[in-house]
Amino acid sequence: MAVPKKRAGKCAQGHRRSHWKASVPEMVKCSNCNEMALTHTVCGNCGFYGGKLVSEKLAEK
Ligand SMILES: [Zn+2]
Repeated sequence: MAVPKKRAGKCAQGHRRSHWKASVPEMVKCSNCNEMALTHTVCGNCGFYGGKLVSEKLAEK
């Protein structure tokens, strides 16, 4: 494996990290309760996913 000969300076480090960005989580409206929920995830508010009740625990709240 290639090993760097010299430690990269603060400038190079900054240039490398300039591409680091926080990504906004993908949210969709729940079909059951119209709350915002993460995509491909059971709704945290009502426990529904894909039009079906998946989590009774979440639904009770
Ligand atoms: Zn929901």
